[in-house]
Amino acid sequence: MNSFSKLGVQESITKAIKRIGWDEPTPVQSEAIPVGLTGKDILVQAQTGTGKTGTYGSIILSRIGSGYNIPSALIITPTRELALQVSEELTKMAFYSGHRCMAIYGGVSIERQAAELKKGVDIVIGTPGRLKDLLNKKALRISKVSIAVLDEADRMLDMGFAKDLDFIISWLPKKRQNMMFSATMPDEVKNLALNKMRDPEELLVSKDEIVLDLIEQRYMIADKDTKKDALCTIFDKERKKTIVFMKMKHRCTQLGRKMKNTGYNVDVLHGDIAQARRERVVKDFKDDKIDILIATDVAARGLDIDDVGLVINYDMTDPETYVHRIGRTGRAGKKGIAYTFVLDADEERSLRKIARVNNVEIVKTEMELIHHEANKNLHPEDNKGVKKKLSKAEEQGRKERERREKEKKEKKKGLPESFTTIVIDIGTASDIAKKDIVEFIQISSGIKHTSIGTIDMKKSYTYVQIDSAYVDRVCTSLSKYDFDGKPITAKKSEQMKK
Ligand code: AMP
Repeated sequence: MNSFSKLGVQESITKAIKRIGWDEPTPVQSEAIPVGLTGKDILVQAQTGTGKTGTYGSIILSRIGSGYNIPSALIITPTRELALQVSEELTKMAFYSGHRCMAIYGGVSIERQAAELKKGVDIVIGTPGRLKDLLNKKALRISKVSIAVLDEADRMLDMGFAKDLDFIISWLPKKRQNMMFSATMPDEVKNLALNKMRDPEELLVSKDEIVLDLIEQRYMIADKDTKKDALCTIFDKERKKTIVFMKMKHRCTQLGRKMKNTGYNVDVLHGDIAQARRERVVKDFKDDKIDILIATDVAARGLDIDDVGLVINYDMTDPETYVHRIGRTGRAGKKGIAYTFVLDADEERSLRKIARVNNVEIVKTEMELIHHEANKNLHPEDNKGVKKKLSKAEEQGRKERERREKEKKEKKKGLPESFTTIVIDIGTASDIAKKDIVEFIQISSGIKHTSIGTIDMKKSYTYVQIDSAYVDRVCTSLSKYDFDGKPITAKKSEQMKK
């Protein structure tokens, strides 16, 4: 009996958990899973990074059946990225039980989502706006939902989703289990819980177990003229996968441009960037194709990226957001570093308050800043000139990427043991590219990019290598989709199997 079975998690799920590689439950999992499995409502204070998705995933997948026409569980998340991430994680956890999970969010075709829902989904994970739209269109039926989860409840309220939540919850059956997860527990969240839940059991993960302990927190004085050099100097020194947080979207874009012109490998994530591009940026960052991600708070909320080593608070923020921001590092047991730039004595005082509120130490740091010249005449996409001038910075970046790549390869954990080639009846004649095929497969079946191998596109069909473990799932999921009004055929390729 493994440790997840001891908590009461069903066998097919513990088998999948073993396959993912989780050996021991995290503290929040040990505490919340047994209570949740009794069917009781639970209110859990836990940040992203503590294993909360695995917590409610274990409860839901153990308590609901699979293969129904309409959803038995609904998870509401504040952002599209989190919805996708949760769907991916639950799909992995449902590897043997076969529960079908689907992420629903705005910015992509609502018709396609409606069509997909019609084919039968067990667990829907969605953002409030799009869930509401699909309910209004009668394309989503949640009358048979027996478990509802509000993930990052505090953020949902911050983002003004209270009315949408009311609307969605009013469509749910009265008899159901509720689970609410929140990094912080302000009164608004407690009131929401009291209004929507039946005598919830409140579970607080103690401060010691919260990942903040793994994060070395520092700050330095930097103003608008020195912040960029401070960022470059810290990054050059640490050379770790980095997220830079900023308040304003347009300043994110500006800084992104400047950093690119200075020769750094950066990209930008904020709410004005089209959904497909946002997903691409997150994927590139996960895949180590980008060293520095410059993001607004909302866009980066809930991002589950394991190996972020450095977080920079380019702008000061409030105590709650501070915890959210720096919590992007120090995950999965790894150490992280967080720097905050403060403009003046006022901001320094605010930061001291943050340290007090969170009961942590934030150490003042001074360092000699190295001036990093940007090439003003250079178009950001044109790297030619920069290469010559900044070969040292780039060379260091390249080496670091190679090292990480090697480390990943060595780990091998989770990488497919074998690939099987499938053939899909869409090709270059349909005016699509390889990356569209990858996206299509990921969105329809919820598998990771690492489970997709080489892609060979012909005029009217495409060969794709898929992790053999997922091949049936991918063929079934793709075959449920239409392309240009015609059903897609996806099957194992006889020709290439030999
Ligand atoms: P979350 O709090 O859901 O954002 O999870 C944070 C990360 O921890 C994710 O990458 C999970 O895959 C990972 N994780 C969740 N549960 C465990 C566990 N029991 N052991 C190791 N890693 C875990």
